[in-house]
Amino acid sequence: MALTATEVWTRLLDRARGELPAQTYKTWLEPTTALLLEGNTITVGAPDRFTAEWNESKHAQLLASYAPVALGHPINIVFKVDEEQRGRPQMDLFVAPLPEATDAKSPVTQISNVQLSARYTFKNFVIGKSNELAAAAAQAAAASPGKVYNPLFLYGQTGLGKTHLMQAIAHEILSKSPELRLCFVATEQFTNELVTAIQTRTTAAFRRRYREVDLLLVDDVHFLKRTEATQEEFFHTFNTLYEAGRQIVLTSDRPPSEIPGLEARLVSRFQWGMVADIEPPDLEHRIAILQNKAHLDHLELTIPEDVIQFIAHHIWSSVRELEGSIIRLLAYASLKHQPVTIDLAREALRDKLKSLPDNPTDLTTRLSVPSIQAATAREWGVTVDGLCSKSRTKHLTIPRQTAMYLIRELLGLQLVEIGTAFGGRDHSTVIHSLEKVLELNTDPEYKRRIDILRENLRQLPR
Ligand code: ADP
Ligand code: MG
Repeated sequence: MALTATEVWTRLLDRARGELPAQTYKTWLEPTTALLLEGNTITVGAPDRFTAEWNESKHAQLLASYAPVALGHPINIVFKVDEEQRGRPQMDLFVAPLPEATDAKSPVTQISNVQLSARYTFKNFVIGKSNELAAAAAQAAAASPGKVYNPLFLYGQTGLGKTHLMQAIAHEILSKSPELRLCFVATEQFTNELVTAIQTRTTAAFRRRYREVDLLLVDDVHFLKRTEATQEEFFHTFNTLYEAGRQIVLTSDRPPSEIPGLEARLVSRFQWGMVADIEPPDLEHRIAILQNKAHLDHLELTIPEDVIQFIAHHIWSSVRELEGSIIRLLAYASLKHQPVTIDLAREALRDKLKSLPDNPTDLTTRLSVPSIQAATAREWGVTVDGLCSKSRTKHLTIPRQTAMYLIRELLGLQLVEIGTAFGGRDHSTVIHSLEKVLELNTDPEYKRRIDILRENLRQLPR
């Protein structure tokens, strides 16, 4: 009987597991899944483009060489990005799994499946100019919960440490008063639980769970749904806790007054205590963060100082990007059995570096098709080549559609001309893209990104 794609792939993987170094297998092959078997070609999904390309160039041939014995016939192996798997946290590569936040002694009230991360402590948080206000406020709130800054509202772009800081408050408070009841919840989780409670007529229980905590941490409140019921519930939860002197900490990607659709009474409450923002780290701060990260993971000897400087100079968008770069670099080095050098870093991080202009001022040339493409690619962390390629993975389609839309809006090009500028697509594809952007615009996070991008582009001379 013919084998299924999964069976074929399992047989090949079993052999590879025995032959490749464990870390290599775990990093690159374990996250793959068989997608399709057609004739003698098997298509295998990988969680991201880097993994797919790496497997294609380094492992496809090796695995195929097992086929005659393992399967009794030759086989072609093709790797591609599996959209379903996308989003696998990159941190999984090198960082040990986080301990469960709720062990037997732990007082953490588990009302959601989002848990505290053991790494998100004040000790591991590097303070610099960009976050000193937020860090000081967080430390003060942790020292006297409910007394000084209530609520504490932290805001800033993604990947700059809001969740980290918020959880650090929780760790600090629990270390001193382990009996306190704490609730850390993502806004979407709060909303979903509320919807379920309404449907199953269990709102009384829902309220008790949220209103009887000593410390409420709500992450990403910009996702608070515009629906009246959610905001109403949130409002009452807030009031109950506030009046009882319980500490409330909120994070968002923008200040309260700029959250679209947020009711005025919530905006004003969010501003009652302390509103602190976090900016992207400057060069010095990025170096300190990388050094701290190397120190924490005992990587000082593996990552020389000049490589840290190199990364800090080139990757500036967020702390998450910095961490991702180190992880990728180490994976690359271990696979190539080479020491970490600047040259290796340039090779390992070429995707990230390519999307950046050599010098940030290069973008301030003129408003043109290339400058719109470059700025959009940079905003989404992809390359202009990727935008113009045929690939239809989601991480490329959204920036591609966005760039098309902005070109149409800012330069007024014809549909056909836009299609040509993106690797020869036809005008119906362009129309579809423009429509797609209108749809995407209903997502506040997306709208914010495109608005900022448009604003920046408008500053360019024509
Ligand atoms: P946000 O919630 O703002 O999107 P996170 O809190 O998830 O960002 O931070 C992204 C990553 O960067 C986390 O791994 C976090 O530990 C790390 N990080 C952010 N800021 C700092 C900092 N100042 N020092 C050390 N690590 C940081
Ligand atoms: Mg966060």
